[in-house]
Order: sequence, then C-alpha cells, then structure tokens
Amino acid sequence: LDNLIRTPPPAEVVEAPSLVAGQWVTAGPHADRIGPWVRGVVSTAHQVDQQDLEAALTYARSGARQVARMSPAARAAVLERAAVVTTAHRDRIARLLALELGKPVRDGLGEADRVADTFTVSAAEARRIGGEVLPVAGFARGVGNTAFTHRAPVGVALAITPFNAPANLLAHKLAAAFAAGNTTIVKPPPQAPAASAAVVEILLEAGLPPEAVQLLHGDGSVGAALCAAPEVGVISFTGSVATGAAVARAAGAKRLVMELGGNAATIVCEDADIAAAARVCAATGYSNSGQSCISVQRVYVHHGRYDEFVSALTDAVRRLRLGDPLDPATDIGSMVDDDAAQRVVTWAAEAAAAGATITTGGDRDGATVAPTVVASPPPDARLVREEVFGAAVSVLPYDDFDDVVAACNDSRYGLQAGLFTYDIRRILTAWRELEVGGLVVNGSSNFRLDHVPFGGVKDSGFGRESPRWMVEDYTVVKTLLLRGM
Ligand code: NAD
Repeated sequence: LDNLIRTPPPAEVVEAPSLVAGQWVTAGPHADRIGPWVRGVVSTAHQVDQQDLEAALTYARSGARQVARMSPAARAAVLERAAVVTTAHRDRIARLLALELGKPVRDGLGEADRVADTFTVSAAEARRIGGEVLPVAGFARGVGNTAFTHRAPVGVALAITPFNAPANLLAHKLAAAFAAGNTTIVKPPPQAPAASAAVVEILLEAGLPPEAVQLLHGDGSVGAALCAAPEVGVISFTGSVATGAAVARAAGAKRLVMELGGNAATIVCEDADIAAAARVCAATGYSNSGQSCISVQRVYVHHGRYDEFVSALTDAVRRLRLGDPLDPATDIGSMVDDDAAQRVVTWAAEAAAAGATITTGGDRDGATVAPTVVASPPPDARLVREEVFGAAVSVLPYDDFDDVVAACNDSRYGLQAGLFTYDIRRILTAWRELEVGGLVVNGSSNFRLDHVPFGGVKDSGFGRESPRWMVEDYTVVKTLLLRGM
C-alpha cells in the first residue's frame, strides 16, 4: 500500500443521461460520481423526477405492446448485433468500470466480453421460445378437445442492478426480457451510471427499438417507486438482502426474481492439488477486490493440508499487484468506496482480536484494501458469518467431510460453493447436501458461465439468472382450448 501512486481524475466528466420515453434526458438535477481510485468526479448522472417516472411508466405500457409484436427472429437479430457492437466498445466499458468503480481494466474487459456472450445466448433463446400441444384426450373430459400453450411476454419488466457487475447484470436482465418480448425499465446503481448508460447505448446502436428500454437514474427511492407501480409486471432485482426485502414489500403481489447476497464457501479436501487450489482462490477471492456475490469468502481446508494451503495462499496473494485500475497489469484496484474498505479492515481486525492470524493484508489506503488472508477466525466472527463483499478470505481447518458440509451450510446464505477433490463420492455428497444453487468442482465458488443457471437458496434469493431460465420468469404460459376439435 505504501507505493500506491494515484492517477488524477480525467479532465472530462462523463455525462450519464437518463433515457425516458425514447429521449435521452440531461436537463435537471444531477448526482456526481466520485471515482474511488482517482478520488475526483468521473461521471455525473441525470436524476429522474416524478414527472419522468410517470412518463416512463406510460411509455412502457405502450412499448410493451410494440415489442410483443416484433418477431422472435427480429429480436434475435438485434441481440446478435448487440454482441458485435459490444465487442467494438469493450475498451470503453472497461474504462468506465475502472473510473466509476476502481475495477481493474482486465476484469472490466472480461465483464464486457461476458456482456457480448450474454447477448449472443439471449438471441439464441429468443429463437427457442415455444409451446406445447397438450395431451388433453388422456382424460375422459378432454376427449374431443385440443389444447395448446405458448409463452406470452409479461409486458413491462423492471431491472434493478447492483454496482459490482453493472454492465453484465444489466445485459442479463434486459436481453432476456427483450428476447421474451418485453420492454424493460432499468434502475441502475448510482455508483456506475455511465457504465450502465453505455450498455443501453450499445443496444440502441445495434437496433434495439427505443420502446424496448428506458434507463432511470436515481437512488433507492426511484427503485421503490417503480417496484410499486402497477404498470410493472415482473421485477428482476440483484442486490443486498436488505434491499431485496424492501423491493418485495413495495412490489406486493408482483412476480419477482431475487439475486441477493452471499458468503460463499470453498472446501479443499486432503486429496486436492494444494498449489492449484491456492492459486485459484487467490485469483478468485480478490478479483474486483472481492466484490462479487460468489467471491471466495470462506475456505475450509482439511487439517492435514491446512498449513500448506495457508502458506501457498499467502504467497500467491502477496504476488497480486495493487495499483491503477486502468493499468492492464493491475490485479487489485479499489473497492467501491472508503466505507466498504473500512468494513473489510474492521472485520479482519475483529477476527484477529478474537484469536485469528492475519497472514497478509489487513489495512487500506482510501478505498484500496490490501488483499487479506485471515487464518483460523472463530466461527462466530462477522468475517465468517456475514457477507464481507471485499478483499478478505478466511481459511478454516476441518477434520471430517460431514462436519465441513454442515459448517458451509451454517449460513443464512446459499449461492454457490467450490470443492477441490477428485473423490466422486464426496462430489456427489456435496452436490446433494450443500445448501446452494450451484457447486463448482475443482474450482472455487467464484466461477460463472452466463448460459448456465445461476442463483441462490435461503437468503441468497430465488430465480435463476441465465437467459433460458430468465425467459421463463419473463413470460406467462398462455393456454388455447379448442372445444369439439
Ligand atoms: P444494494 O442492495 O445496495 O443496491 C442494489 C440496487 O437497488 C441499486 O440500484 C440501488 O439503488 C437499488 N435500491 C436501493 N434501495 C432500493 C429500494 N428501496 N427499492 C428498490 N431499489 C432500491 O446492493 P449493492 O451494494 O449495489 O450490491 C451489492 C449486493 O448485491 C451484495 O449483497 C451482493 O452479494 C449482491 N449481488 C448479488 C448477485 C447475485 O447474482 N445473487 C450478483 C451481484 C451482486
């Protein structure tokens, strides 16, 4: 941390307009975004008012009818073009993520490439949406009738996105909603307004009809007002558990998809390749400074390999390069703000005061946290029990496989887990018994393919964010019954 040389904010402040009723809006109040690394204003976001909200909801209602009339072929073609346009703009997306969030540009380029993949996968799903011929003659009352189903769009989708992966999560929600024939209102995170606007611009450049999207910048009150609006048919929310609960209260009886917090565990068994497991945990426990819902937070290592793992992880973490997020060589830029960085440092210090050993890290400079390894924290430390969402990994020893599965499950969260072993019995036991939405074997918890179902159980939420499964959430099964035919 002593050698950090901060780059000053760029001279140009990026305007992040709202998109309301087909028009980009810049007139009116703005909120400045201070880049956590450069520590100066990097972007300024138009803030919607009550009139904008009402105009957006009215426009969405008519937009939904127009989008529903587009053919799946036309929708798929837009999304395929969007993938190409995204690739042409990947440097711009990565730069905005670095400036607004302190995300290393290498991670930002990775996110941009995933946006392109998300569009391509969603295009394929647009082409696959179909229905069924129902076997109604199987029961006497059905004989002589014919029945079909198809999947009809819900109408207006509301996408509320978090700061940590603002480009790809916006892409997931909007592309699947559009693939299924809906219009979408996006409420982006206040910390990444320009990166969010860039993704919407890319879609419009690719030919997304204006009636398919609106972008409403503002704080949580804008999100809450949209959740309560009767025009909205389905809400896809990604964020913290507390905000998710507020969304559910405001939404009433609306259809919801909830992608909430996590406190992901990874198990390293006695037969694991310890060097490889340590390398993977170092790379995936600290990417984006640990600000991922599936970031490696707890690593349970068999006691026979524990010291070896702690030492290998500590060595690998010490080699991570801290610095300017715009430098392609940087592994750790900054967290989203100083308060988030302070949370990580405080929780690590609390664990140390309760008997844990901080083998590396444990301090911060501004929003940059030195990647931190905490060995043997007590199981009731906040660092073990709550979501730290930052650059600290706890390493805990275990003796027995059943006990470690129970320890992983002893959490309010359940998003994804990692397991390093070659033992098929343990793999199957873990898959059956871990209370998570997904298990990664010979990888850490922090690995996601955008075309594979992703989501949680318990307080981590419900719904599976991946275009094929999201299309189900964004459509309703509609039945046609033909009597006497
Ligand atoms: P957050 O809950 O603070 O904010 C998320 C979004 O909700 C923002 O756009 C915010 O402005 C909006 N919001 C705030 N109050 C609202 C209200 N009352 N009604 C409606 N909207 C409101 O979350 P964050 O700090 O941006 O993101 C971090 C959290 O997101 C972590 O808990 C992380 O685990 C979670 N996350 C989960 C997943 C997943 O797929 N499960 C993915 C990424 C992040």
